[in-house]
Amino acid sequence: MSNKNYILNLLNMEDKNINFSENFIENRKINNKRVIVVIGYLQNNFDNCPVCGSVNNNTIIKNGTKKSLIKIPKISELESYLELKKQKYKCKNCNKIFVSKTTIVNYRCHISNNTKYAIINYAKEMVTNLFISKQLNISNMTVQRTIDTIYNTDKLYKNYLPEAICIDEFTAFKKIMAFNICDAKTGKTIDLELDRTITNLEKYFSYYSLTARKKVKFVVMDMYKPYIGLINKMFPNTKIIIDRFHIVQLLTRSLNKTRIRVMKKDKLNYRKFKRYKNLLFKPRQELNFSYWNKYLFFKNLMTEVDAVDYLLKQNKELEKTYNAYQSLLYAIQRNDYELLEKIIKEENEEISDYMQTSIKTLREFKEYIKNTLEQPYSNGVMERNNNTCKLIKRIAFGYRNFKNFKAKILIITNIFRKKKGVLSLLNVYEPNIFNFLWVEKNYGI
Ligand SMILES: [Zn+2]
Repeated sequence: MSNKNYILNLLNMEDKNINFSENFIENRKINNKRVIVVIGYLQNNFDNCPVCGSVNNNTIIKNGTKKSLIKIPKISELESYLELKKQKYKCKNCNKIFVSKTTIVNYRCHISNNTKYAIINYAKEMVTNLFISKQLNISNMTVQRTIDTIYNTDKLYKNYLPEAICIDEFTAFKKIMAFNICDAKTGKTIDLELDRTITNLEKYFSYYSLTARKKVKFVVMDMYKPYIGLINKMFPNTKIIIDRFHIVQLLTRSLNKTRIRVMKKDKLNYRKFKRYKNLLFKPRQELNFSYWNKYLFFKNLMTEVDAVDYLLKQNKELEKTYNAYQSLLYAIQRNDYELLEKIIKEENEEISDYMQTSIKTLREFKEYIKNTLEQPYSNGVMERNNNTCKLIKRIAFGYRNFKNFKAKILIITNIFRKKKGVLSLLNVYEPNIFNFLWVEKNYGI
């Protein structure tokens, strides 16, 4: 390999038209910082004039050079530049002057493509744009502009939606919720929508073709009635699945409200009710019944079961409510729909009104809860996805622009999440595949 190729390899550049002289590296001071400057000379061979197209019979002659300082990624943590002397040419036929071309930097740009790929490589990490701009010594605007090239977020692939999707919301800005759609199998974000009114969501989903919408077999969501109408209308072949976590949460809340009401009346056992509330929520079969221990506020040694039973003994209504809660929890954990249906069918006057209301809600959503217990999908992936979104927001101390926020979320939770070494580009947005393939090839993902 020639010296030139070694240098090009070292700098990760592929343009063979760049040549290097003997003293090709200089240490200089730019903005009071020591920087490395690599000096190169760029020269093209033209068969035809790029302006008029006439064949080059010694008609294209050299006509001076143009020097430009191009920012390249750091070398050994020192800021680095490529000083490129570009050969200028003149065509004798049309008298036009033109400059040599290169692939390492775009026309009229002083930031090398390698630096831009480095931005994309950084963008997939949980870091802010400010951090990236400091690392690469470029402006914040350049970082944002490069990130914007990753996706064309205005253009949706209208013919693609996965088989199972999750929908949920999270707080994007102060008091503003964002509607989040993700793939129930992989947890990849499909899209985010700021306006979550039913009218807007209907408009949004109608962007997708009917074929794409017909492919969606399952939609996982929480118990929110307006969405059910929307989903049934927009996805004709879908089964709605109520998220397991939200069902349990509903039951836990009503048991807790009952506990608080009892606790406030019973001053004597107030602290016991407060301290051991979590034992009430725990599935009965998971309570410890053989390990005797000292419990705070209790005189005797006892087990977890004893502590719970003591609390239940204080109030009849609480006991009945607890029993109903436990049997429902058991049915949900065992995926036993018949049992669940049996429990919610019965009118039980002895349990608290809070629990009665919850059971009434379960009755209303009965057919969807049946799907929950029969299908393997849950909103677990969505909760993780939402947490990632919130983390991204917190790291950046909030976003002012929803488009930028969405781009960052899509980059982190969608495109760079790969399974078993395969970079999946399946996406509802058109990604700049070239950028990703380059980053994967050169940095590995
Ligand atoms: Zn010409």
